[in-house]
Amino acid sequence: NWALEGKRIYVAGDRGMVGQAMLRRLSQEDCAVLAAPRSLDLREQAPVRDWLASEKPDAVIVAAAKVGGILANDSCPADFLYDNLAIAANLVEGAHRADIGRLLFLGSSCIYPRLADQPMAEDALLTGPLEPTNEWYAIAKIAGIKLCQAYRAQHGRSYISAMPTNLYGPGDNYDLAASHVLPALIRKAHEAKLAGDQRLTVWGSGKPLREFLHVDDLADALVFLLRGYDAAEQVNVGSGEETSIAELARTVAEIVGFEGALSFDSGKPDGAPRKLLDSSRLSAMGWQPSISLREGIADAYRAFLAGEGRGLS
Ligand code: GDP
Repeated sequence: NWALEGKRIYVAGDRGMVGQAMLRRLSQEDCAVLAAPRSLDLREQAPVRDWLASEKPDAVIVAAAKVGGILANDSCPADFLYDNLAIAANLVEGAHRADIGRLLFLGSSCIYPRLADQPMAEDALLTGPLEPTNEWYAIAKIAGIKLCQAYRAQHGRSYISAMPTNLYGPGDNYDLAASHVLPALIRKAHEAKLAGDQRLTVWGSGKPLREFLHVDDLADALVFLLRGYDAAEQVNVGSGEETSIAELARTVAEIVGFEGALSFDSGKPDGAPRKLLDSSRLSAMGWQPSISLREGIADAYRAFLAGEGRGLS
């Protein structure tokens, strides 16, 4: 077991949704959290290496990434591939050079093949072709997992990785051109309600199935893994709560109080037909999520109303 007590932790990406949740969760522990200067660009090798060498945190959590929903991924492939590769490479190599013994890398369920058996277990990695709408991001995240495994194999580093399912919660991105489905639906339902619109437009067929996890549950799982997990294989972190996009839109409409109808825009992509993680390894280790999808969406809507989010101009 790796003790968190008295440690100095650097959360890379601490202005993002996951990073913010991590700071909230770590504030309940007896550890110190280091903040990098705002000007530190994680895509730049030398400044990252130098900053890690001068601060020498005991652990690095890689919650920094260029993220986005199905359209953003599709329209900016270079950004999704390059930014995420650079962030992963700079932080893993920088941590190793600074002799930092512990690192937790975060990926995503889109690393698994598009048509992987459902639910998707850890050993489905690299068994088939990826979903084309997010393969750029996925390739970079797969490289991140492999970096952790390579530095473990060659240098004996206790670097681990966790693969969360679709995340949502306070601090999400509500910019409709870049956001994921849940924040997009919250915003669209809210604005339709205010405008008295009778229609809420949902992209695609509404048929794809997605699993969602509240970001506070993720942060709790990450602290659990940081303390107790030390092996090469990535660990899935899901909720087991799967819904169709159409059902999700109805749930959001109900919570937001939008009473009109849903219309489906078949000009937009569906993406993967289904993306359910098999999180049985993590549950066998003794961790369970505690926030239901309904409670979680209500909490996200509360945060949205309080202006806690990006892309809300
Ligand atoms: P994915 O999980 O990587 O496919 O990313 P998203 O969260 O962006 O999309 C999930 C599913 O929700 C896809 O089938 C989208 O077509 C669908 N969807 C429905 N309405 C929206 C919307 O307004 N924004 C986004 N991003 N997706 C939507």
